[in-house]
Order: sequence, then C-alpha cells, then structure tokens
Amino acid sequence: GGGGGGGGKEERILVSVRVRPLNAKEIERNDTADWECINDTTIVLKSSNLPDRSVYPTMFTFDRVFGFECSTRDVYEQGAKEVALSVVTGINATIFAYGQTSSGKTYTMTGITEHSVADIYDYIKRHKEREFVVKFSAMEIYNEAVRDLLSVEASSLRLLDDPERGTIVEKLTEETLRDETHLKELLSICEAQRQIGETVLNETSSRSHQILRLTIESSTGEFVSRNSSVAATVNFVDLAGSERASQASSAGARLKEGCHINRSLLTLGTVIRKLSEGRNGHIPYRDSKLTRILQSSLGGNARTAIVCTMNAARSHVEQSRNTLLFANCAK
Ligand code: ADP
Ligand code: MG
Repeated sequence: GGGGGGGGKEERILVSVRVRPLNAKEIERNDTADWECINDTTIVLKSSNLPDRSVYPTMFTFDRVFGFECSTRDVYEQGAKEVALSVVTGINATIFAYGQTSSGKTYTMTGITEHSVADIYDYIKRHKEREFVVKFSAMEIYNEAVRDLLSVEASSLRLLDDPERGTIVEKLTEETLRDETHLKELLSICEAQRQIGETVLNETSSRSHQILRLTIESSTGEFVSRNSSVAATVNFVDLAGSERASQASSAGARLKEGCHINRSLLTLGTVIRKLSEGRNGHIPYRDSKLTRILQSSLGGNARTAIVCTMNAARSHVEQSRNTLLFANCAK
C-alpha cells in the first residue's frame, strides 16, 4: 500500500478479509474448508494437493483477517468502524464489500451499516452542543443504469457535474432522517425496491451494485475546520459478485450486461489499485458510474475500507484466490 507517495495526507485503504464457514449443503457434499486464518492478519491455503500450488501465493496478509469464529460485530469494529465514523468529523468515507456471489457480502455489509448507524447516532447524542442533520439516500447500479431505491420510478438517473459538489445523481431522493427507526423504515423500502428489480425488471442482485449513503451536515466545531463544506458522506457499498469481473458471459443481453458489470467492477479495481499505489497520476474515476458517484469519497482526504468476503470451501478455491489477489492490490 501507498499513502507516502501522494500529497502526504492520503490515508491507506483499510483492507480486511472475512471467510464464511461452509453451509449445510457444502458440508453434505463433503466439501472441505481449504483456508485458515492462522492469526489476526494472515490467511493460508491449507491443502497441499492442489496442482498449481507453486504458481500462486498460498499465504496472504492484510490489516485484518476474520475467520469462522468472528462475528459481524468483530468485522465492523476492526475492519470498518474507524473509517465509517470519520464522517462525523467531516471526512467522506466509503466501505465496500467485495467478493463472489454467496460469499457473504450482503450479510456482512448489512451488519456493518447497522452498527455504523447506531454508533453515528450515539455520537450525535453525546454531542448535544453541535447540531447535526442526517440525510439518507440509496441507489442501485445495474447495467450502468442508476436507479433510486427510495422511489418507485424505475427510470435511470442522470449524473451531473457540479463545480462545487462534484458528481451529483440528478433527482435522487434524499430523506432527512428523524431517527434510527425512520432509517429502518427506509431500508425496508430499499429492500422492496430491490426485490421489484429482481422480479419485474428481471434483475439479478449478483450483478448490481448497491450504495446506501448517509450525509451528515453540521455547522460547528471540528467539522468545519477540517472541511470547507458543511456536509460529509459515508457510503456503504454492496458490490456485484466479483465473478462478474472475470467470467465470460453468454451471448446477447447477457453479454451487454456482463460488459457493463465488468466496467464498474474493473474500473473500481483500477481506481483502488492506483490509489493504493499512492501515485499522483490520472485516476480513471470517470470510466464507470460507480466510480463517478463515489469519486468524492474515494482518495484525496476520504477514508476507504474494503471487506473482502470469501467462501472457505475447496470448490471455490479459484474465486477465493481471485478475491485475495484483489485484496492484495488494494492494501
Ligand atoms: P452475497 O451477498 O455475497 O451473495 P450473502 O451475504 O447473501 O452473500 O450470503 C450467502 C449466504 O451465506 C446467506 O444465507 C448468509 O446468511 C450466509 N452467510 C454469509 N456469511 C456468513 C457468515 N459469516 N456466517 C454465517 N452465515 C453466513
Ligand atoms: Mg448479496
């Protein structure tokens, strides 16, 4: 990882890996857990009988690795909290869940979002001397089209460039949150909208990126001294299945879809790699909708955490290794 090469104030990306345990089906068909977290930071491939052992690394280290015994709270506390909570001091932040379909992205990200919101509200309650306004918005990127998850409109939203605020998602619904209960209501609306996408619009959640966004406005104290703006944003991003970045798609519409998913995931990969190298060169934020939307919360002063989820099963060893190679580039 970089940080040192850039303007000096860039922070490293916090990179962690969570391994999900085998489920009943996998155990039933005698799949075995191939990966083991040997300490808090190191994960190793246990099996010695894989033919290409010499070609690929079999040991990886990250800021943190989370084995079967770790709870989502552990993942939050050590893999996301510090980054998510920087928003209350006026610093933009993004937390990603990256991994193949069914590796635990949604399971992990849902928990991280809930814990983050609880801690943000806790912070606000403990700082009564400051005024805070919390706003929520949610969107889905499917096939490079951006959909508002708080609106019944299925039409794609346009991205606009604002000289002060950067990329804006035009007409995106932004709700001012009354409290955490209000947020729970909004999250269930988002979930319903996603379901509609899957049934009516024939979408597959494994191909879409979901962004849940909290914007915190405050006009006093540390917030303003750190940041010229009075608002900071934290994004919780549940990415499309990472197999979409490598898998060749079938013909027709599927192919188009596959290409676009590739574009957002691949561009994200490039952006993350360049940021982690800490170089000053061109970063291709504008090459995909995902990276355009997240640009002001990626790199620069912003904080980023990536939680890579993987399946320990032998039958998934190739995808798990791809995920670890991605994580390795990010650190
Ligand atoms: P993804 O979003 O990556 O496709 P999910 O989060 O939907 O994957 O997880 C797939 C299944 O595995 C779900 O039934 C989920 O409850 C379960 N699961 C995921 N991670 C864990 C975990 N760490 N421990 C127990 N069950 C898990
Ligand atoms: Mg999911």
